[in-house]
Amino acid sequence: MSTLESPMFRQYLALKAQQPDALLFFRMGDFYELFFEDAKVAAEACELTLTSRNKNAPDPVPMAGVPHHAAKGYIQTLVGLGHKIAIADQVEDPKTAKGIVKREVVRVVSPGVLMEPEDLAPRENCWLVGLSTENEQWGLALLDVSTGDLRVTQLSSQEDALEELTRCGASELLLPEALQQDTAIVQMAQGRPVTWLDGEAFDPKAGKEDLCRRFEVQDLGAFGCDDMPVALGSAGALLNYAGTNSQSSLPHLIGIRAYSVSGHMVIDETTRRNLELTRPLYGRGRAGSLLGHMDRCITPMGGRLLKEWLLYPLLDRPAIADRHDSVACFVHNRPLREETRTHLRPVTDVERIGSKLAQGTAHARDLVALRRSLEALPLVLLPLGAEPSLAHLVPSDLGEKMAQEIAYWLVDEPPMATTEGGLICPGVDPELDELVRLAKEGKGAIAAIESQEREAAGIPSLKVKYNKVFGYFIEITRANLHKAPAHYIRKQTLTNCERFITPELKEFEEKVLGADERRKILEYHHFVALRDRLQDQLPLLKDLAGRVALVDVFSGLAELAVDCRYIRPKIVEESTLDIVAGRHPVVERQSLSEVFVPNDLQLDDRDRRLVILTGPNMSGKSTIMRQVALIAIMAQIGSFVPAEAATIGLCDRVFTRVGASDDIRSGRSTFMVEMSETANILRHATRRSLVLLDEIGRGTSTYDGLSIAWAVAESIAARIGCRGIFATHYHEMVELASTCAGICNLSVAVSVWGNRIVFLRRLEEGGASRSYGIQCARLAGMPQDVIGRAKVLLAELERHSTKHPTPQLSLFGKAPESGVSQEEELESQDPVRSILVELEPDTLSPREAHNLLYDLVRLTQEKL
Ligand code: ATP
Repeated sequence: MSTLESPMFRQYLALKAQQPDALLFFRMGDFYELFFEDAKVAAEACELTLTSRNKNAPDPVPMAGVPHHAAKGYIQTLVGLGHKIAIADQVEDPKTAKGIVKREVVRVVSPGVLMEPEDLAPRENCWLVGLSTENEQWGLALLDVSTGDLRVTQLSSQEDALEELTRCGASELLLPEALQQDTAIVQMAQGRPVTWLDGEAFDPKAGKEDLCRRFEVQDLGAFGCDDMPVALGSAGALLNYAGTNSQSSLPHLIGIRAYSVSGHMVIDETTRRNLELTRPLYGRGRAGSLLGHMDRCITPMGGRLLKEWLLYPLLDRPAIADRHDSVACFVHNRPLREETRTHLRPVTDVERIGSKLAQGTAHARDLVALRRSLEALPLVLLPLGAEPSLAHLVPSDLGEKMAQEIAYWLVDEPPMATTEGGLICPGVDPELDELVRLAKEGKGAIAAIESQEREAAGIPSLKVKYNKVFGYFIEITRANLHKAPAHYIRKQTLTNCERFITPELKEFEEKVLGADERRKILEYHHFVALRDRLQDQLPLLKDLAGRVALVDVFSGLAELAVDCRYIRPKIVEESTLDIVAGRHPVVERQSLSEVFVPNDLQLDDRDRRLVILTGPNMSGKSTIMRQVALIAIMAQIGSFVPAEAATIGLCDRVFTRVGASDDIRSGRSTFMVEMSETANILRHATRRSLVLLDEIGRGTSTYDGLSIAWAVAESIAARIGCRGIFATHYHEMVELASTCAGICNLSVAVSVWGNRIVFLRRLEEGGASRSYGIQCARLAGMPQDVIGRAKVLLAELERHSTKHPTPQLSLFGKAPESGVSQEEELESQDPVRSILVELEPDTLSPREAHNLLYDLVRLTQEKL
């Protein structure tokens, strides 16, 4: 018989056929075994030894195994890498099984349906996302099994649906098989955990019926999702998949939230990445991102809410003002802020514990943590009643009864296991108290039996011991065996001793061990009954968790505002942007070698719509652009902003095209990525958008690049008419201010002496005349001979371009006026004088001042 025809492998293959896209953990005794490709994948990922089953057979099967008690860690690793794991357990007792023991897939763990809440990042939602399409509508549904959050939205274009899908940060995707033909979908799905399901799983009618049944309603009007049939189909697919995989009816899903993408500021994926909103451009985690900087939340619920706010800034002025009011309360009332934050400390993840409670998976420690959180809530929430803009956060029910009930039943520090006793307080059940007493007394009585037997037998080294196989027994060393009384019953002979029992000892044992066993069962029974009773409290827990998250975010934003000197922005409907002394929230906190220089910036919907921003390399152009975008986003999530004053006209979208990167995955060059991102902006920006473009067109020949940049700027100013900043090294573009309405020039000032530049970081009206690229290259450590050669070439090129102004350049406006090279012009000036004229002593660090002094002395000596 070949290996594969053995009954065990037939069973294995049948189970694997049920879960073809999962790695099958097949329980065999104390191990989970993986076979075939699954074994190879797991062996490589977890550094397991790859062996084979039936090594000597003609068809050995690759095999790798993990001990069952250590499986959790391996599952965690594999799921973290995006794999799905199906766990096939033995579902009957091997001792009583006839033939091969029955096995079934009891659970499927995947990145979007995690088994253990401990595997979840506390401050991140874990979204399982379903997407389907019908009648040119795209239905998106999001489910976080750990919090019981279910959301739906429907969109009329695939592009918007994909954008929304990336914004929410899906941990796992469910897609209908038909979409495997769609290139955009397949490209988006690349590198993400995806399960392709039969199209029927997304049936809108079935989805709606499932939800109505679940929420016990006739229709879903109350949830605002009656007009989203396609999204309901996606929701149905999610519930079915998550329910089957987790073997749960998902009792903690008690509602569904319909939302509209148009209700929020749109920040596309490129912009989110460029602005480092939730993660830094380079590196993992949150550190270095705006979220990492802003998150002063104390609870996981607060952390999750802040991230959501950052991804979904508001467009509704009154709603934004409400958030600002709440933050302002905490800013101005320091005692309230400090007290609130102190009392938030013991509050744990009430939302996720609520979900565990409803699913019957909470253990005693969860309930005690819940109790401690609930006990802290009156201190967190009640004082808010005194502040008009926070009073709505005070609940009518603070969950005190729940806290009291948990405190009544559970001890303060219960063990992890719920079946080993030690959970229930003394005094709540007389029967339990009696069992505890018996068990305890019994243990005391062992000592009495031991000394009684020692005396009777005359063996001082006699011991009464216990093990799981024999229970209690008497142990006598070999040397004393001759003194063993005749009524002792021999049980076991070891090298140095013999073990005995007596009828009296066994009678006693029954009493003690019986009491202990009965006590454990009774305690478990009380615990489960308590957990079941608390299940009804899920809506209350969800409500409290929501309030705590809000208080945490508001007080955290206030803490941030006070700590970093932020001010409350004014939000207006008009298309303006007026920032006084704005700063980049993240860069200003980094340890720069210089003090961060704030800058003013005004944009309006008339003659200052689009700023052409020029200035040398490294002068701070990108930083200014990013800080403007970040200030607008921060303002619209309800945060205070890093400035001395700010009036922000609502932005419906923020677009950035900053920096260059090759999109290797889609095989597009730097220039192609830049062009398609710019095209996207030109297609989607509206009059109310904020557009930030950095060095468009530099990835191609100078004149091509300049032409594109010029045309893009004209289109933004004249056709779209939105607010924007366009940073460029094409100084020809400063001419646009005189040819195109709505465009003005700003530049970042530098001061130059000799061959050195001092970055002043200050914005000035008007355009810059040159880039000082060669000075920057010198700063970057470019070898002296290359710098020298570059200077000669630059002078040549500049002379050449003036002698032969190309027809292309003349299209754009004036050609450079003088025939003298900029480099020569600079060097013809008195260098010492030019330094002193431009010098801003206040902007220099002591070290720079010191170096400057040396330079001045040297230059003067050279002149003499
Ligand atoms: P390039 O044209 O070469 O891309 P850039 O003009 O866009 O350069 P940035 O990248 O914005 O320059 O800034 C360069 C560095 O200058 C930043 O990394 C930061 O360290 C510092 N910097 C920028 N703005 C300021 C400021 N306002 N105050 C202090 N330091 C600043």
